[in-house]
Amino acid sequence: MQAVYETTLEYAQSKDQVDTLFPFRERFHFPQHNGKDVYYFCGNSLGLQPKSVEYLMNAELRDWARHGVEGHFRAAYPWFSYHHIFTERLAKITGALNSEVVAMNALTVNLHLLMLSFYRPSGTRYKILMEAGAFPSDQYAVETQVRMHGLDPEDAIIEITPAPGAHLIEDIDIINGIKEAGDSLALVMIGGVNYYTGQFFDLEGITKAAHSVGAYCGFDLAHAVGNVPLQLHNWNVDFACWCSYKYLNSGPGGVAGAFVHERYSNDAGQFRLAGWWGNDEKTRFKMEKGFEPQPGAAGWQMSNAPVFNMVAHNASLDIFDKAGLDALRAKSVDLTGYMEFLLSQVKHLDFQVITPSEPHRRGCQLSMLFGNNGKKIFDFLTENGVVADWREPNVIRIAPVPLYNTYEDCYRLYELLMAMEA
Ligand SMILES: *Cc1c(COP(=O)(O)O)cnc(C)c1O
Repeated sequence: MQAVYETTLEYAQSKDQVDTLFPFRERFHFPQHNGKDVYYFCGNSLGLQPKSVEYLMNAELRDWARHGVEGHFRAAYPWFSYHHIFTERLAKITGALNSEVVAMNALTVNLHLLMLSFYRPSGTRYKILMEAGAFPSDQYAVETQVRMHGLDPEDAIIEITPAPGAHLIEDIDIINGIKEAGDSLALVMIGGVNYYTGQFFDLEGITKAAHSVGAYCGFDLAHAVGNVPLQLHNWNVDFACWCSYKYLNSGPGGVAGAFVHERYSNDAGQFRLAGWWGNDEKTRFKMEKGFEPQPGAAGWQMSNAPVFNMVAHNASLDIFDKAGLDALRAKSVDLTGYMEFLLSQVKHLDFQVITPSEPHRRGCQLSMLFGNNGKKIFDFLTENGVVADWREPNVIRIAPVPLYNTYEDCYRLYELLMAMEA
């Protein structure tokens, strides 16, 4: 059913009044512009700080001061097993079993570590298929993994591009690309939601296609986690990784996450680069020779938990839990639909929204592709208290985030665009 929206401030405010998630906005710090909260549309790049972080951070500092090394066992959240506090909440957000997820490291690091386990080229099966225009870090990671195996990226990397003149890559083109590559394919690695267009790919269909030709399938979920519904276990995804500072609001460089499907994560023989934190917890401190991985994705950990880098993660996941994933998604679909409707009423500026219009093919982000004047419009929005995101050569990305954005935020952005000269 097509929602019916209106282009008035009164309408936007009336939507906010009946929005049960509206109070969650109060749990975040907003940057200020001329003494007022900014209109923050950049949660796809860096989520806002939960107000509870400061208290939790101070508590952790006190535990360190009070306990020193004993904090490993005596801290309120003992550092020895700190990563356990995230397990259940991350499993819910990613649609995984508890044993399949772990919070560790940073995103690109995890992508490399998981490719070391799941990109194992041999003989004529050595190719990696990915989307063209992937986030640069992912491109560099794939390219250098290929080189590490003595292969030529030109030959070993298959990039699926949009059809000529199109902005989006159709799922069917990825699936056909996989079938065409057949048993030359070792791995399919895709960004689950494209950072530039906001497109959410058919992860289940892509996984099925990869498996049908005997390839592994993994996803970078940086723009998907906390944004779109995920069922990594049921979709049979082999591995995935994500960062926590975008939709998960866990602070710049905050701890990242990883998923390894149970059919591998419980297999001690599955190759991984090991460190002591991935060792069986019962024997970890015996400091003996011979790595014995603990079961689950936690067996991919290397170093002890970066506790101060995990505090905000704890604060933020708690907010997700309280808001509820279903309620967040329902609001997200409606709020982004509202933003899209408002943008469709701006007829005098030269842009189009390139994000798919079907809700199941996107999260909250909308990408506006400008024919001209894009930068001028972006600068005008910035001067008027809008925090959006400019991507060369001519895209403005905006992300109305259901946890803290309002219908009025969307209206204000529309109002500014309407005030702008063509
Ligand atoms: C944000 C993002 C990254 C950033 O990687 P870091 O290792 O966290 O610096 C990588 N890949 C994708 C797809 C992203 O969206």
